[in-house]
Amino acid sequence: KNLTSAQVRQMFLDFFKEKNHGVEPSASLVPKDDPTLLWINSGVATLKKYFDGRVVPENPRITNAQKSIRTNDITNVGYTARHHTFFEMLGNFSIGDYFKEEAIDFAWEFLTGKQWIGLNQEKLSVTVHPEDEEAYVLWRDKIGLPEERIIRLEENFWDIGEGPSGPNTEIFYDRGAAYGGEDATDPELYPGGENERYLEIWNLVFSQFNHNPDDTYTPLPKKNIDTGMGLERLVSVIQNTKTNFETDLFLPIIRETEKLANTTYNASEATDVAFKVIADHIRTVTFAVSDGALPSNEGRGYVLRRLLRRAVRYAKQIGIEKPFMYQLVPTVGAIMEAFYPEVHDKKDFIQNVMKTEEERFHETLQEGLQILHTIIDNEKAKGHRLFPGKEVFRLYDTYGFPKELTEEYVEEAGFKMDEAGFEKEMAKQRERARNARQKVDSMQIQDSVLSDIKVDSTFVGYDYLRTDTTVA
Ligand code: ATP
Ligand code: MG
Ligand code: MG
Ligand code: MG
Repeated sequence: KNLTSAQVRQMFLDFFKEKNHGVEPSASLVPKDDPTLLWINSGVATLKKYFDGRVVPENPRITNAQKSIRTNDITNVGYTARHHTFFEMLGNFSIGDYFKEEAIDFAWEFLTGKQWIGLNQEKLSVTVHPEDEEAYVLWRDKIGLPEERIIRLEENFWDIGEGPSGPNTEIFYDRGAAYGGEDATDPELYPGGENERYLEIWNLVFSQFNHNPDDTYTPLPKKNIDTGMGLERLVSVIQNTKTNFETDLFLPIIRETEKLANTTYNASEATDVAFKVIADHIRTVTFAVSDGALPSNEGRGYVLRRLLRRAVRYAKQIGIEKPFMYQLVPTVGAIMEAFYPEVHDKKDFIQNVMKTEEERFHETLQEGLQILHTIIDNEKAKGHRLFPGKEVFRLYDTYGFPKELTEEYVEEAGFKMDEAGFEKEMAKQRERARNARQKVDSMQIQDSVLSDIKVDSTFVGYDYLRTDTTVA
């Protein structure tokens, strides 16, 4: 089917409206009355008040398309086909109303129904929890999925410690052997494994137990359904693109970036990563600022600052040396206008915030460069030819200089960089971050990366980046 992302989003909401769900608007990315959460990171995050019983909804059936931010996926962005820091989660929810059977029926009808998305049924497979016989039987007998496409997976259990918990079932789309893996039953390749072939599109959570303080599980009197499907992923399946970034949600941003760059998309793998990271981060920063967050040195603002700087650094790899992120805001606004008119409406404000922040960052970089040259001069005077690791770290930590950048300048001056010394400082910093990190439940876990995000805010295309970074 030929559908635009705007049509897919609308179709999802229309489908569940037809199934008697109340349509909730996409709530602000900045959580309200929820100090445990830095960003809204899923559809259910804005509906907690219904799930924990504080508020009884007028209609126990709810659907939404929810803006979400997950910074814990940042090191995947640009490398996998499917991860973003900002994405939209399509969800349907039942607060003590329908349960497994309807949830599975709805998902299947929406994905495969001819008047809906109409995906080829043979491309779909699912995972269930090994003890969730009920879900297994529903997929096999009610839906008619062959057994080899129902995979039992231990991880399919949603548990955040004390409180509601339960098994989940996830729906995967087989993108074909071109994306690797021939055998769907190979544990390395099957749905749920880390691969690019079987794309997880939808997660249905069956909240049916209470996790008691003594670690026993008892059935909940009122069972809930919580589902989430990434709009970008579904659209990539429908529009048949290699990654989410070639869909109509991202490609116009990449095209606009090309106009400012010295290369084009698809020229090389490394520069493609840069285009993708920029296209990802611009959406995150644009929507976050539109929802009232501002770059700063702590909390949410710190995340925005890091994301923006990260994008600026990647931009250097494609020859963009001047403030530019702000120029992409109108494109984001235009892509999202049908459902999020606020971005277009606040575009001047968002652009101002970004431009100011980018200019400041360029100044900081300039300052860092001066310091770098001073250190080189001093060391030279002492007859040294080694650039101290401590200083590499200081430039990185205070002036945002990736070590690779420092290394380039250092070598230009005929110096060597004290790499081991730098790594030692990095290890100390990670230790500090780890100690500072609090124990968090799975709702919060998305935000624990806050302390890590510093680590990976460097240039890409360098392998140490991906291995060095802890992902929550
Ligand atoms: P994955 O295993 O691919 O990282 P997940 O299991 O962490 O995804 P869930 O927490 O189950 O994701 O979220 C529900 C749905 O939201 C996923 O099935 C996916 O479609 C989408 N989703 C989750 N994280 C992201 C992300 N970082 N970027 C884009 N879509 C996402
Ligand atoms: Mg994930
Ligand atoms: Mg998953
Ligand atoms: Mg999942």
